[in-house]
Amino acid sequence: MTISTTVDRVPASLRDWLSKPRLMLIDGKWVQAKSGKTFEVQDPATEMLLANVAEGDAADVDAAVKAARKALDGPWGRISPSARGRIIHKIGDLILEHLDELAQLESLDNGKPFSVARVADVPLSADMFHYMSGWATKIEGKHIPLSTLAAPGQYLSYTRPEPIGVVGQIIPWNFPLLMAAWKLAPALATGCTAVLKVAEETPLSALKLGELLQEAGLPDGVVNIIPGFGETAGAALAAHPGVDKIAFTGSTEVGKLIVQAASRDLRKVSLELGGKSPNIILGDADIESAIAGATAGIFFNHGQCCNAGSRLFVQEKIFDKVAAGIAANAEKIRLGVGMDPDTEMGPLVSSVQHGRVNGYLKAGLEEGARALTGGAPLNAPGYFVKPTVLVDTHPDMKVVREEIFGPVLVATPFKEADDKLIAAANDTVYGLAAGVWSRDVAQAHRIANQIKAGTVWINCFHVFDSALPFGGYKQSGWGREMGQAVLSNYLETKAVTTKLA
Ligand code: NAP
Ligand code: MG
Repeated sequence: MTISTTVDRVPASLRDWLSKPRLMLIDGKWVQAKSGKTFEVQDPATEMLLANVAEGDAADVDAAVKAARKALDGPWGRISPSARGRIIHKIGDLILEHLDELAQLESLDNGKPFSVARVADVPLSADMFHYMSGWATKIEGKHIPLSTLAAPGQYLSYTRPEPIGVVGQIIPWNFPLLMAAWKLAPALATGCTAVLKVAEETPLSALKLGELLQEAGLPDGVVNIIPGFGETAGAALAAHPGVDKIAFTGSTEVGKLIVQAASRDLRKVSLELGGKSPNIILGDADIESAIAGATAGIFFNHGQCCNAGSRLFVQEKIFDKVAAGIAANAEKIRLGVGMDPDTEMGPLVSSVQHGRVNGYLKAGLEEGARALTGGAPLNAPGYFVKPTVLVDTHPDMKVVREEIFGPVLVATPFKEADDKLIAAANDTVYGLAAGVWSRDVAQAHRIANQIKAGTVWINCFHVFDSALPFGGYKQSGWGREMGQAVLSNYLETKAVTTKLA
């Protein structure tokens, strides 16, 4: 495969980095796969070669798990919380120092605009390390007074939160650096060690992050990074008996495989899975901001967000205006190569996703949906799909029921903000997020209370913060990422009781 032409748009130092085979990080060393195998990473905007990367498999995962155990039993297990926090904070600083380079890698590898990665993916990743660094010194147990079997004061009982141990972490390709940050920062804050399996489509920014972890002074083996395929490296990590806990982000389908693998010896699992989030616009909403919010709700990151507002419900009297407004916005979105400063939407991440999304568009149109705009791939190299708004849908169409993970909105009118609307919004196996747009605060909160989802945004969408827990009801997952809530994914609680007299 020839080298992608969009690589010409990055500085010589990064071109040089990309031109060398990228290795995996095990026990503080950059090493080839034990098998000697490598795989090609592609630029989705040109379908050309970006880099050659070591292809980890079960043997490399085994070495990484052993290194993580050694680090847990060694220096990382003995470091003070304050020193741990300082290293985590330093990682955040180093990410910001390498802002452009990381945003360039993210754009080349994933296809997303450099301009977006620079203001969203990379700063949010740094913030996750900065935010989590503070938790390192604040993981506390508590004294618990006993009532049974003891006269008051006869026993002293307290809890001790302890790191769960060696964690296996598996991440997807939609926000490659940010997903690594969401996983690694809390694992480090709680004192765990980690083996991170990055997505085969987008391994590069996490490998660069590995260099920054070393520069920050993280001891060898605390974080090990394995690029490779899900069926080999991922499956080996999920099934490895030396891993105390698996944290996974990706499809609901693979999430179920992870649970099966971990259930053999009942290892702990947390899951961040798919979604088909409802976005509800009531007749009294500020229409202009609702149109802008619903546009971003579905088209941000090319619709490749697990929380994308992909099912739009609009009150009948404003339906046509809102749907037309979103379609008009969609037509204005500039599609192009991520490294081009004018680009607002890049290609989808891979030919597989391109095929999947186009398959959904075809199925939707065949089942009778009508495209107000889009509805087809771009006739050009690269995995581009036109932003699409589908109307005239009904609740059992594939495009309404299944997660498309592309720039495709299905829009449906509703009559009243009643139980029927709530039932329609909740009519999904997923429960990750939802939006509600209304000037009536009481009504918006009533609806927020009735939606079965881990996040509800009122008069906004896609508002993320390292301090806010994020995760799913129903088949959208187990556990929460970010905020104080994520700490429990990585801690065990020990109750210690002493007889005083
Ligand atoms: P995926 O197959 O679930 O992949 C996610 C991660 O799991 C990747 O690192 C993948 O490795 C790994 N993996 C795959 N099979 C595995 C197995 N048997 N055992 C252990 N690990 C395994 O997701 P995808 O194919 O990249 O995307 C497909 C769908 O996933 C999307 O359409 C969307 O529905 C969902 N998704 C959700 C999120 C989210 O944030 N919740 C993010 C991305 C995708 P490889 O990369 O090597 O396959
Ligand atoms: Mg895959």
